[in-house]
Parts: sequence; structure tokens; C-alpha cells
Amino acid sequence: MSFLKRLGELLAPHQRPSFDERSHLLNVRCRRCGEIIPARIDLMNELSRDYDTGYYRTRKIVMGSGKNRCFQQIELNLVFDKNKQLIEQSAIGGEIVETPETPETNDIG
Ligand SMILES: [Zn+2]
Repeated sequence: MSFLKRLGELLAPHQRPSFDERSHLLNVRCRRCGEIIPARIDLMNELSRDYDTGYYRTRKIVMGSGKNRCFQQIELNLVFDKNKQLIEQSAIGGEIVETPETPETNDIG
């Protein structure tokens, strides 16, 4: 039944944002207007090594799209361990929110 297959594809598009091992993705909610701003940390280029601890750190400024006429800058501070696993994160001017997991429940197909 190609129609059902088609429908399944529409409901569960395979064109998700492609997972990229080189990047760490997160969402930040602006404290001023509440906009959710996606941020992408390039693990290859944006981290600096902390030689005291062996950890990696990065500091990044993100800003909303401007659709709320809010141009609040949010400063992200992230710490990764030697394996580039996130161990610490904080945001100034905003709040880091959990990236919603891709829902596993797909009853069609
Ligand atoms: Zn804002």
C-alpha cells in the first residue's frame, strides 16, 4: 500500500536535522522573550582545551531570530570532557532547554 507508506513518510519524515558527530546541538530559551533558539557547537573548531583539567571549553554568543523584536544576546558556556561528552553547561541571559527526543511511537507502517 503505497498510500500508507507515503503517509508514514509524511508523519515521520526522514529529513530530520541530520545528526552530526562533530556537532553538539542544543536549544536555548531567551529569558526576555521566550524564543527557543537553536545553537550548534562545532566540536572540531569551537572548543579550546583546558590543559589543567584536560577538558574542553567553549563560550558562544547566540541571538534570537529577531521575530519577537528581541535582540537579547545569550552567552553559552559549555564544558566537555576528554571524550567530548558534555559535562557542564550554563547560559547567561537565557536557559538551556532539553532537546526533545525524536518520538519513538510510530504506529503507522
Ligand atoms: Zn529574546
